[in-house]
Amino acid sequence: MVEAKSDPKVREKIDTIYKEVLSRNPGETEFHQAVREVLDCLGPVLTKNPEFLERKIIRRICEPERQIIFRVPWQDDKGEVQINRGFRVQFNSALGPYKGGLRFHPSVYLGIIKFLGFEQIFKNSLTGLPIGGAKGGSDFDPKGKSDDEVMRFCQSFMTELCGHIGSDTDVPAGDIGVGGREIGYMFGQYKRIMKRHESGVLTGKKLNWGGALVRTEATGYGAVFFIDEMLKARKDTIEGKTCLVSGSGNVAIYAIEKLHQLGAKVVACSDSNGVIYDKNGIDLDLVKQLKEVERRRIKEYANHHKHAKYTENGTIWDIPCQIAVPSATQNEISGENALKLVKNGCIAVSEGANMPTTPEGIHVFLESKIAYGPGKAANAGGVATSALEMQQNASRDSWTFEYTERRLAKIMANIHQLCYETAEEYGTPGNYVNGANIAGFIKVARAMVDHGLV
Ligand code: NDP
Repeated sequence: MVEAKSDPKVREKIDTIYKEVLSRNPGETEFHQAVREVLDCLGPVLTKNPEFLERKIIRRICEPERQIIFRVPWQDDKGEVQINRGFRVQFNSALGPYKGGLRFHPSVYLGIIKFLGFEQIFKNSLTGLPIGGAKGGSDFDPKGKSDDEVMRFCQSFMTELCGHIGSDTDVPAGDIGVGGREIGYMFGQYKRIMKRHESGVLTGKKLNWGGALVRTEATGYGAVFFIDEMLKARKDTIEGKTCLVSGSGNVAIYAIEKLHQLGAKVVACSDSNGVIYDKNGIDLDLVKQLKEVERRRIKEYANHHKHAKYTENGTIWDIPCQIAVPSATQNEISGENALKLVKNGCIAVSEGANMPTTPEGIHVFLESKIAYGPGKAANAGGVATSALEMQQNASRDSWTFEYTERRLAKIMANIHQLCYETAEEYGTPGNYVNGANIAGFIKVARAMVDHGLV
């Protein structure tokens, strides 16, 4: 990674703190990776602001304010008892109530929730909105479960979680495996137990009972607005570009939609089983029908379009493109994948997913000087629009699609500007990783100093 200058003594202190993070959080590799990336950017900031070290801001920021781990018992359709594990990590409330999604996926364990919660602190800070950082979820796998099973699980999950959240305390939302259906079941259970219709307790709600227009589209649209800004800064545009979007879930679908609206052609998307390539451009109506309505596998796309090619277990990143929007999961772009992308002519990467690029991959993107938008900045449109949903809930109002989309576009332009200017200020022009981590950190650190030792 390209680094701005910092005092070697400060560097040493940062290394000591990182070693402590490793020993205090054994086995949590994704969390270690997320912390390393942020700390690697902070040398110059801590050199310039020694009070952040004196007040132990880094040590405090790496330690969640609160971690809740709980049993989630539920019964499947056969009447058999199932046990899952639930998590909510309330990482940092310096800027506002805790805010961050819930992930339901079999791979979930504390290390994944902590990496996501840690990233969320800085991402939320970049939005300029008053929200702290948190994340939660469970190792429950909604795939292949009936609606009733998902409902029973969500009710059991919320039975414990309801005591820890609230519209001024902690406001969860969706993430992998958690969409409008799951948010609905959890909201129903919260309302039943707490005996109040508290709209602002969850975001990502359906439109007929407190949800906000554009929230569904926001992360994918926002990631594309971020590419638009990065390309504008290089006097280029999205129009006419060939793109890859990994995944075929919420973020991927709306990234594809916005890329198509802006005149690009997305030729491939994927799911955890394989990759679909359609040289004519992905038929998004079909993807929405298969994924949002029927909850099927992307493989079935090829049954509807005979010219499309499906590759089981294939990697999407070997397909030549100019723009890549990883929108599936963490560490999906290795160093090798990144090299291939750059060699094939990729000029811009915008991370719809959280931490989708490995440290080796980030190194390749930064060295090659392509426009690389890290997830913290590029996918912040989702949480920003969740904060707009909270504003509408608090004022019992609902805004139009056009107005909310304009707000989202403006927020993404502001985030881009902030990261761009911060990268320049710290001597690494064009390095949005430095820009995002430094700008996100400084705002939280100053608030923590203001709040005293808490
Ligand atoms: P969804 O559950 O809607 O979709 C996830 C997609 O990614 C699916 O196509 C899924 O395939 C694929 N995927 C998930 N896990 C893996 C895996 N281990 N290997 C390969 N493919 C995988 O989730 P979202 O679209 O909401 O989230 C996608 C990413 O975006 C995540 O990193 C999330 O943290 C991030 N994000 C989401 C936000 C939001 O508002 N939803 C906000 C900011 C970031 P399959 O169906 O086969 O599992």
